[in-house]
Amino acid sequence: MAGITWLFLIPIVSLVVIGVLVVGTLRKNGWGINLNPVRCPSCEAPLSARRQPVFRSQALLGGWVCPHCGTKMDKWGRVGTSESPSGPL
Ligand SMILES: [Zn+2]
Repeated sequence: MAGITWLFLIPIVSLVVIGVLVVGTLRKNGWGINLNPVRCPSCEAPLSARRQPVFRSQALLGGWVCPHCGTKMDKWGRVGTSESPSGPL
């Protein structure tokens, strides 16, 4: 009986996870997925998709520090939000 319950939970949990990712991508918050290339908002330098996270929030939610001018940005290329990302919604 418990195994049948888990079978019903798997698609529900999957839908919730997909929904959070889709909403996060549309609203450009920390939970979204950015597949577009990002440029530094200060010096326009293109940033590598293979980044080295400097802060823990960058490792978890994405974000860059520009190697040319040191500008911190989130995964969407916005300045100053990498250290305090918004919540899931
Ligand atoms: Zn820069």
